[in-house]
Amino acid sequence: VIEIGTPERSVVTTCAYCGVGCTFKAEMRGEEVVRMVPFKDGKANRGHSCVKGRFAWGYANHKERILNPMIRASISEPWREVSWDEAFAYAASELKRIQATYGRDSIGGITSSRCTNEETFLVQKLIRAGFGNNNVDTCARVCHSPTGYGLSTAFGTSAGTQDFDSVEHTDVVMLIGANPTDGHPVFASRLKKRLRAGAKLIVVDPRRIDLVRSAHVEAAQHLPLKPGTNVAVLTSIAHVIVTEGLTHEAFVRERCDWSEYEHWAAFVAQPANSPEATSAMTGVDPQALREAARLYATGGNGAIYYGLGVTEHSQGSTTVMAIANLAMATGNLGRPGVGVNPLRGQNNVQGACDMGSFPHELPGYRHISSDAVRESFEALWGVTLNSEPGLRIPNMLDAAVDGSFKALYVQGEDILQSDPNTRHVAAGLEAMECVIVHDLFLNETANYAHIFLPGSTFLEKNGTFTNAERRIQRVRKVMTPRNGQEDWEVTQRLANAMGFSMSYEHPSQIMDEIAALTPTFAGVSYDRLEQLGSIQWPCNERAPDGTPVMHIDAFVRGKGKFVITEYVATDERTGPRFPLLLTTGRILSQYNVGAQTRRTANTVWHDEDRLEIHPHDAEQRGVRDGDWVRLASRAGETTLRALITDRVAPGVVYTTFHHPDTQANVVTTEYSDWATNCPEYKVTAVQVTPSNGP
Ligand code: SF4
Repeated sequence: VIEIGTPERSVVTTCAYCGVGCTFKAEMRGEEVVRMVPFKDGKANRGHSCVKGRFAWGYANHKERILNPMIRASISEPWREVSWDEAFAYAASELKRIQATYGRDSIGGITSSRCTNEETFLVQKLIRAGFGNNNVDTCARVCHSPTGYGLSTAFGTSAGTQDFDSVEHTDVVMLIGANPTDGHPVFASRLKKRLRAGAKLIVVDPRRIDLVRSAHVEAAQHLPLKPGTNVAVLTSIAHVIVTEGLTHEAFVRERCDWSEYEHWAAFVAQPANSPEATSAMTGVDPQALREAARLYATGGNGAIYYGLGVTEHSQGSTTVMAIANLAMATGNLGRPGVGVNPLRGQNNVQGACDMGSFPHELPGYRHISSDAVRESFEALWGVTLNSEPGLRIPNMLDAAVDGSFKALYVQGEDILQSDPNTRHVAAGLEAMECVIVHDLFLNETANYAHIFLPGSTFLEKNGTFTNAERRIQRVRKVMTPRNGQEDWEVTQRLANAMGFSMSYEHPSQIMDEIAALTPTFAGVSYDRLEQLGSIQWPCNERAPDGTPVMHIDAFVRGKGKFVITEYVATDERTGPRFPLLLTTGRILSQYNVGAQTRRTANTVWHDEDRLEIHPHDAEQRGVRDGDWVRLASRAGETTLRALITDRVAPGVVYTTFHHPDTQANVVTTEYSDWATNCPEYKVTAVQVTPSNGP
């Protein structure tokens, strides 16, 4: 029994965990949160929540929070607490010294999908206008950057096509590389409700996620593909649709580039792309694949939802375009109940991308090389912007190891734990002369930092988050920042210390600037958000109340673009030393690398990462349920306990990546998506052997 006491006031705000974007009433007594009550008028959650949002906010008051700035001359020295003024002066002098010594492009920064739109906008502004380069990237690099590339190529905009309400009009759901029960629980509840009402489910996933056998689902079709073969499976589905005459020709003729469609149709129709021809490679039963293809093409409104099991591959962007091809070929776009819907991982990963966090794009996904776009920013910011795209995170780390990149400002992201090839990340950080970590806790990256700027939690700030359905929602301050500064104020003071003037008094002024510079946000303001509750972009003169469903009459790019998606096997191969394929995922009660949830009571539900292994593979290795095992790959090794289950197929193992003790990314590979450098977390050749423990 938990004594919660009587609340004195309540404040409506938005969850800071996943991309569903549930809203809550934070019930307060003084500066203490008494409880978080799901907000019944929340458009994304309609009064529901999961255990993360409801219970895992206690990290705001955790004793390990760092509340005062700290500096040190080298990473071998102890930290020294300093005043905010001294920290900003030191940071600015170091950044200016490094630029004077090594050049304008020797420094950069990383924005956070955990922070607000306004904070993210300010960091990229500091880098582009204050640092004078485009060396800005975001943690979306390692999750949904292929979504940005693939969807903007096919449709002309980097976002999901539907709102969550759309699922209520869906007849067939194809779920690819996503496990919403654990990753997006409140959306999963809405999905289950629709499935209970009779919608059909196709699951494309190496692992038998719980929805496959859920009581909510009459008969899910599960295509348990071998990790790394998404493109081959989707091309085979397209093969069936084209060769069996199941395409929606009228839609394609009216809405898409017909000659590109014809090339694509001829490609997928080749016998080498048939389900029978690809079966040995993908591991998918050809008849099951044919039935799934027919169901998606002819079963009524077909909607595709996908997750990181699509994007985190060497062909992540290709897979996103293969999904877009399927939706266009079957006319499943432009109305409720259909569409292509990435289930975004972090609370504001959509917003971080919208706000110009990529090195080649200004806010609103406009290329930095466009003179007209740059000029609009230059006029307001009073600077001349660099027209060359900057470095992505992996390029920054490579350049650091090579000696040309010397300083990094990281806001709200633990790149040492969350990026692939941990040893390379460490080498890059160690080679830099100034690493500034702006975060809540001394995370793993902070071990390599010279300046630590304390961050503020979502409970301590004003701003907005944008969820997976492009819905912009208010984040409201419910308590005074324990560190004395909201994150946007920290960035502003750093900019001013460097001599680049910023003088915002409230995040609403930053949103006004975003709206003035970004056509898809032109109608967004805090006043409109108060009136409407939330707004789905695009919001402008043509759509003053926002846009729940996109591409209704035409695609943003004009004609929809079919792209030939040839399957190219990953370079990560199994062999005698590493005969199993590792893939990774999440669990309901924990969040990403666990920096927040591990500092809450949620650890009672999950306190370690386990390795799921098929009974056959476990028996071969003499491993029993609960035994310690050594998980080794070409990149590294770790130790964790085994969980024997037939949820994974023989030859496939699976684990979560929530605990720093496990550091699952020690074993993941250096391979990445050809278009975006998104790491290939989902395919690693490994060996599993018994172990005595860590
Ligand atoms: Fe909602 Fe996601 Fe937060 Fe859970 S973690 S309450 S599903 S936004």
